[in-house]
Amino acid sequence: MKLKGRPLLLLLLLWILVVPTGIVYLLYTQPIPMVNWLWVCVSVLLGFLSIYYPIIYNRKPIVLFVWFTLPIFLMYGLTIELIITQLIIACAVFARFKTGDVLYRLLYNSLAYFVLSVSSAVAFVMTGAGIGEQSFSILAVGVFVYQIVYSVLYDWIFKLYGVLTNRMRLDSVKETLLHYFRMVIAVPLALSLYYILIHYGVIGYVLVGIPFFFMTIVLRINRQTDDLNAYIQAAGKIGQQLAKMTTEESVIEEFLTKTAALFRADYVYLFDHHDGWLEPTHFNMKGKKVAVPQVRLAKGEGIAGKILADKNSFLYTRRDQWIQQTITPVPDDIESLLCVPFIRDQEIVGVLVMGSKKKDAFKEFHLNVLDLLSSYFIVSVEKARYIELAEQESNRCALTGLYNYRFLEQRLEQEMDLLNRGFLKNLAVVMLDIDHFKKVNDSYGHESGNLILQQFANLLQNKCPEKAIVARYGGEEFVYILPEFSMDAALEFAEELRSEIQQTNMQIENDLSCLLNEDEIQITASIGVSAAPEDTDEAMTLLRNADRALYIGAKQAGRNRVGGYVK
Ligand code: GH3
Ligand code: MG
Ligand code: MG
Repeated sequence: MKLKGRPLLLLLLLWILVVPTGIVYLLYTQPIPMVNWLWVCVSVLLGFLSIYYPIIYNRKPIVLFVWFTLPIFLMYGLTIELIITQLIIACAVFARFKTGDVLYRLLYNSLAYFVLSVSSAVAFVMTGAGIGEQSFSILAVGVFVYQIVYSVLYDWIFKLYGVLTNRMRLDSVKETLLHYFRMVIAVPLALSLYYILIHYGVIGYVLVGIPFFFMTIVLRINRQTDDLNAYIQAAGKIGQQLAKMTTEESVIEEFLTKTAALFRADYVYLFDHHDGWLEPTHFNMKGKKVAVPQVRLAKGEGIAGKILADKNSFLYTRRDQWIQQTITPVPDDIESLLCVPFIRDQEIVGVLVMGSKKKDAFKEFHLNVLDLLSSYFIVSVEKARYIELAEQESNRCALTGLYNYRFLEQRLEQEMDLLNRGFLKNLAVVMLDIDHFKKVNDSYGHESGNLILQQFANLLQNKCPEKAIVARYGGEEFVYILPEFSMDAALEFAEELRSEIQQTNMQIENDLSCLLNEDEIQITASIGVSAAPEDTDEAMTLLRNADRALYIGAKQAGRNRVGGYVK
């Protein structure tokens, strides 16, 4: 969340009223006693480290610096503890800022920890324990209460933060448990450190710090393995999803959205690689498709072009590492980049670039997971392309490229259904049969016949009205399905066609075996027309009627004419 304008100003005012004012007040009323500055400095350093490398549990950081600041409180009181806590918070916010809302986080955290320090200190004093207390039983009660107040407040304050920034729901039980879990670790550690410091001096930091940070490291290594496993599992699921898709476009969309979600990327760019050029084909921004720029990138050009040159995946953690290399406009807020080539048969077939608004958003192991995902992707795209092609081919005639009889029949049934359910007012069928086609074959050869069929099909396709389809019905017979065409409109359309066919020169193969030495010939066609709902409400009958109209009304009447169906 980015706070701007009034809310930020209010927060700033509140902060000034509470934090600096509170510290000045404390400095006057409870001045810092004589302190061991080495201990104070080491506490700040270790406190900062424990925020910078927090223990991660269930993907959530457990910040435990309180066990370095609590002994300082027990020895020297609230004022110095509050100041070092504020110092640690400020250092941690600056060192860990990945997003732009640094000021907001600084103010919020500073206020929150101020409240935590003061409230817990008050609670501690109320138990009767004093600063510099050495009696274990008094101290144990005091510290226990201190931590309870600290944990409860911490839980509320950071839930509020979570709700304000939309990151957390109020009822998150796991979060709450996690906040109380800190107590179990922090209280004994803080007490141990306090006693060791008093009795043995600075060595206490070493004695307690070593096992603590060692445990942190072990847990972090463990987390990386857990993360990798979780990612591989998620990638497997995405792979299964992709394998089910039957169109290339749906595979690409699914891949881009799911991959972006998995890696929490804000931007995903997909490039196609053809003949040494990279062309952007799909851009997704925060899960939504955006316009693709009209650019072509050669080897080495831009971020994606670098992949072509290096043939290697790479990742950047900050904007200044890559911004010099870009040649196309890039959104202002991208920080981290992850780029991988898609490789098939040792050739780069495409490039994927992912961007995140956060610094250091991608990890090395993400590249391996993406490699895995990209192989699922490539296989699924190929499969989908094959399915699409097979589907297309099963509906098309190989010679002319027009729809075939199978498709024609299906479509006619569908259109008739629409008509019968009132979604269409009219439906007409126009059937054509080339006149004396046998003679064409006999005179110019079968090859020429085929060539003519292809040109004839092109002519019909070019004349095909919007929403209508034209199909090859049989040898040299073709059919139009014309939704929203009345009998009259269809007759008019057929007449136009007939005249156009008659006037069109058809190329033929002119080889030496031809008896007639010609390059082009003219052909004619006879045409039958039928229409629904006038003649029938049944798809196959409509087709049969057109056939009858063709033979009786056109062929028998002398050919090269249009016949309408008459009952
Ligand atoms: P009409 O229709 O005017 O009565 O005479 P026609 O000669 O066209 O007669 P018909 O429709 O019965 O004959 C169709 C001919 O079309 C028969 C066949 O040799 C030819 N034919 C059918 N399919 C193909 C094809 O795919 N390629 C070629 N070259 N010829 C085909
Ligand atoms: Mg025929
Ligand atoms: Mg014929």
